[in-house]
Amino acid sequence: MCKVLNLSSEWIKVDWKKRVHNILSRPPLENEPMSLHTSLRIGGPAELLIYPQSLEELKDVFRTARLDDIPIFVLGQGTNLLVRDEGIRGIVVNLSYVCSDCRFMNDTVRAGAALPLSKLAREAADKGLDGLVFTTGIPGSLGGALYMNAGAYGSTISELVSEVGVLDYDGRYQLRSREELDFSYRWSNFQSEDVVIIDGVLDLQPGDKEEIITRMRAIQDERRFKHPLLPSAGSVFRNPPGRPAGKLIEEAGCKGMLAGGAEVSLQHGNFIVNKGNATADDFLTLVDLIREKVKNIFGVELELEIRIIGGNGSEQGRR
Ligand SMILES: Cc1cc2nc3c(=O)[nH]c(=O)nc-3n(C[C@H](O)[C@H](O)[C@H](O)COP(=O)(O)OP(=O)(O)OC[C@H]3O[C@@H](n4cnc5c(N)ncnc54)[C@H](O)[C@@H]3O)c2cc1C
Repeated sequence: MCKVLNLSSEWIKVDWKKRVHNILSRPPLENEPMSLHTSLRIGGPAELLIYPQSLEELKDVFRTARLDDIPIFVLGQGTNLLVRDEGIRGIVVNLSYVCSDCRFMNDTVRAGAALPLSKLAREAADKGLDGLVFTTGIPGSLGGALYMNAGAYGSTISELVSEVGVLDYDGRYQLRSREELDFSYRWSNFQSEDVVIIDGVLDLQPGDKEEIITRMRAIQDERRFKHPLLPSAGSVFRNPPGRPAGKLIEEAGCKGMLAGGAEVSLQHGNFIVNKGNATADDFLTLVDLIREKVKNIFGVELELEIRIIGGNGSEQGRR
């Protein structure tokens, strides 16, 4: 009886992959190491990493996935992710072939979710449009920035957004107006929905091109000095009210702590860096040690900012 069940579940597994293969004009990558697709250079294999060539392909994949109850994970540029060593079950979607355009109309821009934020900011600056300077040095895509409500220097991407286009997992495209969007510190409504961000409209302001570029350069220089060069996923923890997480971590004596190939950066307490061969388990060991120390010394419970995905059920979100 057991054998029959195993055989039939294996058959279903092969079958959904075959169906997804048949939909896509670019062959998907099977068991692709996620360490090749994250800024941390850590992460086990994605069962199927797909690069849809059109929204129609993506919609068809979603419908197939729904039918077989296959989990979907949307990857931006992987700069805010820790993928567990066990990898990600189901389908990982890379949107770079379908959502990387941008179109400027007077002071607004409609941009694809996969467009790198740095490219968008640079194009806006070249057109003498101000508003995105604070994003200088935030790696990742527009979709990732909207999902995470990325920000720096007291500003967040949510302040610029007037509309977002999403595709739900039934393959329906919907436009969300500003009133239908909800953002707070490193949080957006997209974190509690099963949708893929396809594009967004940002409202910018006219400015002086040279002056905008000068401010961008100043931020670039500052970040180069502040941020470690080794692979990381940016700030690991959210800043609790009152004091930055990095300061608490530093004062708790965690800087330089090691677990396998992972290290609490000596340069910035809220960064955990990969010294070359770190695993997700090494990283998580440090996360637990930092939390424990900060809790014992300051009574503060640090919450994760990075997204942890993969392992059992490919779940996302906080630990
Ligand atoms: C050196 C360094 C510095 C950083 N500095 C900052 C900073 O100053 N401020 C800041 O806010 N962040 C910072 N970050 C974190 C990170 O760059 C941002 O969170 C960024 O917005 C993530 O974008 P991404 O495309 O890489 O998303 P990913 O890391 O690929 O994904 C993050 C989450 O967004 C979801 N997602 C991505 N695209 C889509 C989509 N199209 N539709 C639905 N969901 C999607 C993913 O499923 C995942 O849950 C830094 C990171 C590094 C490595």
